[in-house]
Amino acid sequence: MVLDDLGTSLRGTLEELRGKSRLTEEDVQAVVKEIQRSLLQADVDVSLVMELSDSIKTRALEEEPPGGTTARDHVLRIVYEELVALVGDSTELPLEEQTIMLAGLQGSGKTTTAAKMAWWFSKKGLRPAVIQTDTFRPGAYDQAKQMCERAEVEFYGDPDAEDPVEIARRGMEETADADVHIVDTAGRHALEDELIKEIEAIGEAVEPDRSLLVLDAAIGQGAKEQARRFEESIGIQGVAITKLDGTAKGGGALTAVNETDSTIAFLGTGEEVDDIERFEPNGFISRLLGMGDLKQLTERVERAMAETQEEEEDWDPEDLLSGTFTLHDMRKQMNAMNRMGPLDQIMDMIPGLGGGLMDQLPDDAMDVTQDRLRRFEFVMDSMTDAELEHPRAIGQSQIERIARGSGTDEETVRELLQQHKMMERTLKQFQGMGQGNMDMERMM
Ligand code: GDP
Repeated sequence: MVLDDLGTSLRGTLEELRGKSRLTEEDVQAVVKEIQRSLLQADVDVSLVMELSDSIKTRALEEEPPGGTTARDHVLRIVYEELVALVGDSTELPLEEQTIMLAGLQGSGKTTTAAKMAWWFSKKGLRPAVIQTDTFRPGAYDQAKQMCERAEVEFYGDPDAEDPVEIARRGMEETADADVHIVDTAGRHALEDELIKEIEAIGEAVEPDRSLLVLDAAIGQGAKEQARRFEESIGIQGVAITKLDGTAKGGGALTAVNETDSTIAFLGTGEEVDDIERFEPNGFISRLLGMGDLKQLTERVERAMAETQEEEEDWDPEDLLSGTFTLHDMRKQMNAMNRMGPLDQIMDMIPGLGGGLMDQLPDDAMDVTQDRLRRFEFVMDSMTDAELEHPRAIGQSQIERIARGSGTDEETVRELLQQHKMMERTLKQFQGMGQGNMDMERMM
């Protein structure tokens, strides 16, 4: 995750302020130094870092903390506000009919982002279509088509045509029924005049309402120059930063956004169609600082719940609160969890739990957990319906049989049964409290 290091190191420094009621200059200096180090390491422009650290320093020392605020909270709030100001607002993106053109260098993630954005708009109830005009990169057509199939959105492209402008024009006609047209353009390895000319011509053909620049998070300082050139020639209204899952950098892209007075529209966090987030400055920085991002989390939970219900029509989370909790129920619960995405990303979004807990875990702890969930799946595959319905009746000989059948071991089977018991107990407590609706956040 971008600037990951900042979150971690800053949390450590801030912890040292815990319990203090007044800040000394040295305290502030220590915090500012951590911020500078992390931001520079993440490729944020030096002058931007200096500007930011100056205003944090001034504010932390001059502003009077509101009554009852600890020194730690005072600094945290200022750092939070300044970082939110640094990343800027989210690109305005009304949920209505529009044409969006994507531009960027080859490999930046345009094609992937086009399909992801279409998926995102479709989840918001709109009818998007992706128009692929990249005749330059072999494979772009197939890749876009496959991703759009996975996203279940309309796609137009023509692998035999040679003129991208003509493809764009025909694509707009062929997908006239769609509300949101996302036009993917070709990239080049470097910013060439030919590329700019081509994108300008496509722009004239499709008359986009907004153009977004796609930037790879790992790009570094070069991002500034790219953003400026694209801004001068086609005018960009927003930026999509991709591959945030693969790098602790991202500062180059942030700098580019800041320098061109642009804004961030989307963040790409993986290779799948649903690995996209609408950029929300507050949530983004909260997450970075280990304060959690409830909004993203709630959205994911709701989406996962809806999808699970769609697939398992007879499943209603509220049922969990009445009657017995079987392994069938637990499996559905696990499926819903899986749909929310990698566990470590989810954990980052939970306030308090977020960074703090993650830092204490060994690096591979989350993998183990994902791996464990997978092994639980194998175990459940080897159980009979009766066993899934009445896990408490499972005895030693059955455990042996299930372990053998699932290719796991008895220990894993017992762990699963134990886990089920724990969840059952938790649910009983909810039932006792007479909760009307299933609240995943509280569960976790
Ligand atoms: P284009 O040349 O700009 O159209 O770039 P592509 O969309 O083909 O992306 C280039 C490579 O980056 C592909 O292998 C994508 O799967 C990968 N990619 C794109 N976005 C992301 C992302 O957010 N995370 C990760 N890990 N990979 C990404």
